[in-house]
Amino acid sequence: MFHKILVANRGEIALRVIRACRDLGVEVVAVYSEADRGAPYLELADQAICIGPAPSAESYLKIPRIIAAAEASGAQAIHPGYGFLAENSKFAEQCRESNIEFIGPPVEAMDRLGNKDKAKAVAKAAKVPTVPGSDGIVNSEEEAKRFANAVGYPVLIKAVAGGGGRGMRLARDEASLVSGLAAAKAEAEIAFKDGRVYLEKYLDRPRHVEVQLLGDQHGNVLHLFERDCSLQRRHQKLVEESPSPRLPDNVRQEMCAAAVRLAKEVGYFSAGTCEFLVDQKNNYYFIEVNARIQVEHPVTELVTGVDLIRQQIRVAAGERLSFTQKDIVPRGCAIEVRINAEDTAHDFRPSPGTITTWRPPGGPGVRLDSHVVAGYRVPPTYDSMVAKLLVHQPTRAEAFAVMRRALREFIVEGIHTTIPILKTIFDTPEFIKGDVDTTFIERVLMPK
Ligand code: ADP
Repeated sequence: MFHKILVANRGEIALRVIRACRDLGVEVVAVYSEADRGAPYLELADQAICIGPAPSAESYLKIPRIIAAAEASGAQAIHPGYGFLAENSKFAEQCRESNIEFIGPPVEAMDRLGNKDKAKAVAKAAKVPTVPGSDGIVNSEEEAKRFANAVGYPVLIKAVAGGGGRGMRLARDEASLVSGLAAAKAEAEIAFKDGRVYLEKYLDRPRHVEVQLLGDQHGNVLHLFERDCSLQRRHQKLVEESPSPRLPDNVRQEMCAAAVRLAKEVGYFSAGTCEFLVDQKNNYYFIEVNARIQVEHPVTELVTGVDLIRQQIRVAAGERLSFTQKDIVPRGCAIEVRINAEDTAHDFRPSPGTITTWRPPGGPGVRLDSHVVAGYRVPPTYDSMVAKLLVHQPTRAEAFAVMRRALREFIVEGIHTTIPILKTIFDTPEFIKGDVDTTFIERVLMPK
């Protein structure tokens, strides 16, 4: 086992990794930008190193500074969290060249899964169904039109380097295809420095179901069942739960097996997620692999009892998984909601600022992952998530009751948050029945 790990991230996930290191008895080094100087979670690390000014390009994304911080502090491994450098295979490579273990999948697997078009080719090789698509990059308007006419509108334009819903445009007809192509390329060029796009058939009111994977460096790959992340706003997840309500068990088993096949195809190890869309007839289609730990990983931790961050660290240190597939027995229902500093009444615009009151919920069945305390200032520079609130109960109905209680207890003042809309969501009959798809918020809660 390592004796010192550096966390190349901030906020909630930095704290989550700090906690896992403590639990393992490993020393932990945090890094921070000037915008995060003095943040309370930094005190929980053994050491904290400033890596630059607020803009992430000059701090959390600055590879040489992070590697220098690891070398200076004597850290043997780096945990990248999610976002920032987590899926950057060049970073993983440079860590390994500097004799620092990258806590994540192998570089080769990251490369093969990093772009969505390449990942779809891997899925096909592993006999995993994919959404009908352009099979690679579309190079011209003409090509795009030809494809859209062949599969029929609507189609979705997606950036090969996409993430967080960026570089994605829906086209319902030829005119919106032409304008959408330009817009998606421009957005992807800015966000990912890669303007290449491809097309997919747009599925009608699908559910988003993803399978958690965990593998070691000795060829063992397991699945830890699924999470349903259908409740999204503009393709950004807001609520995640496990098990997926209304998913027939045979489909669940098939999807989990498909995800494991895909991971084995590329020699995957560490934690990862295989994302699928499920249509109204319960056909499932692979969309992408997230080759990192995800925001919503605690949902799986609650239902399976496996600490995914500790497992990532153990696997990176070369340990074998100490359990097998049949040991993974999901228990009950877990739900996570994302508490974001956003003004939902004004198109979810970011609401940074100082939190004057912070009264978090607690009690049986509640887990709160958050780096925030009263008086904390939410910087405008980074993503707006301030907490992940989770509940775990024997049944979905009980989980809903505990979630309502927890949301009611949760008092945040000084900034706007997603708490009010989450309260509404947990009182909405369609959601209570599990009748939810990726269009739920726009269709049921905010119809134009
Ligand atoms: P990103 O990596 O940007 O998050 P994903 O490929 O994971 O993009 O897709 C994000 C979300 O967009 C999905 O959860 C789903 O809601 C929607 N989506 C993606 N592909 C399709 C599709 N072919 N049809 C309908 N909705 C889709």
